[in-house]
Amino acid sequence: MKEIQMVDLKSQYDKIKGEIDSSIQEVINSCQFINGSKVKAFSDNAEKYLDVKHFIPCANGTDALQIAMMALGLKPGDEVITADFTFIATVEVIALLGLKPVLVDVDKDTFLMDIESLKAAITPKTKAIVPVHLFGQCANMEEILAIAKDNDLFVIEDSAQAFGSDYTFSNGDVKKAGTMGHFGCTSFFPSKNLGCYGDGGALYTNDDELADMARMIVNHGMKKRYYHEVIGVNSRLDSVQAAVLDVKLNYIDEYNSRRRDAAEFYNRELSDIEFIQTPVKSEKSSHIYHQYTMLITGGHRDGLRDYLDTKNIPAMIYYPVPLHVQKAFDYNEPEAEAKFVNTNTISDLVLSLPMHTELTNEQLDYIVTEIKNYFKE
Ligand SMILES: *Cc1c(COP(=O)(O)O)cnc(C)c1O
Repeated sequence: MKEIQMVDLKSQYDKIKGEIDSSIQEVINSCQFINGSKVKAFSDNAEKYLDVKHFIPCANGTDALQIAMMALGLKPGDEVITADFTFIATVEVIALLGLKPVLVDVDKDTFLMDIESLKAAITPKTKAIVPVHLFGQCANMEEILAIAKDNDLFVIEDSAQAFGSDYTFSNGDVKKAGTMGHFGCTSFFPSKNLGCYGDGGALYTNDDELADMARMIVNHGMKKRYYHEVIGVNSRLDSVQAAVLDVKLNYIDEYNSRRRDAAEFYNRELSDIEFIQTPVKSEKSSHIYHQYTMLITGGHRDGLRDYLDTKNIPAMIYYPVPLHVQKAFDYNEPEAEAKFVNTNTISDLVLSLPMHTELTNEQLDYIVTEIKNYFKE
């Protein structure tokens, strides 16, 4: 049996090697390494796939979030609400821009932003909400957009883990993750659902003016070369990454459905085990399983992880420490612990199993058999 990895990028590459290699070779032949025709082609194709008006490529997902906040004109002191349970990047850029991150608890089952906690966190200084589409499913966007509208707030979706995930509104409208708020931000880090062979990211928006501003900011605040209208950054997607992404975009639905198949197998095999809570699906979102994250109760999480390790099955803890207790944030709020009941609990129980597009039946069988063996002992 092939060695089991959390993510198997090599096997995925081997299947489409011919297409990838020739796409990259085209870039090298053209020597248009920055903003070449591959970047344009990928952006146009991504706009179509996502059904969004503007797709603005940039250097990585963290930059995408920062550029969105800059384009919206957020100012030091403005409060930005986001989830306490996410990758650090979401909160980092809020703090870097001098904005005030206001963290809220997440739902204990779906791990997505808790709506009551969001409502309770809004103050006159609140300017934006950053819902995180964690592990591959969309946050409760219908409620979040309604709350944002009532309170005149911007919505920036962190879609880094949800490229291709669908959200269905009560009226039947279906939208892709990242296309519902003022901005959606994504990452093409190699292990994401749509990953390149280095760093990459993008912002999307349906608003012409915001798109214009974001396009200026990614490129030193200029439209016309050497005429700088606003303070910007240098954040571009390079053409080699676009060459990879333009090929892989054709496979994204297939990739996401392979992940779903693997997840459904895990669900079937593991949901009867007393100490395992398999991932809970949010009602209105599809789940594309960026991660397959279970809750392991009964004090078994670390023991199971160590046991799997001895069987050469990797399992990871995403995320071991909620943001409000990260040293970097020094989130000294008197009521913090009472507020973050769910994130505190979840971070002690989560365990993610290998999840990627190339898991074989043999590997999947072996993984669930060993998990069952652990609980037999
Ligand atoms: C990966 C990720 C990011 C950042 O993306 P990079 O491309 O690594 O900068 C932001 N938010 C979440 C939730 C992520 O998973």
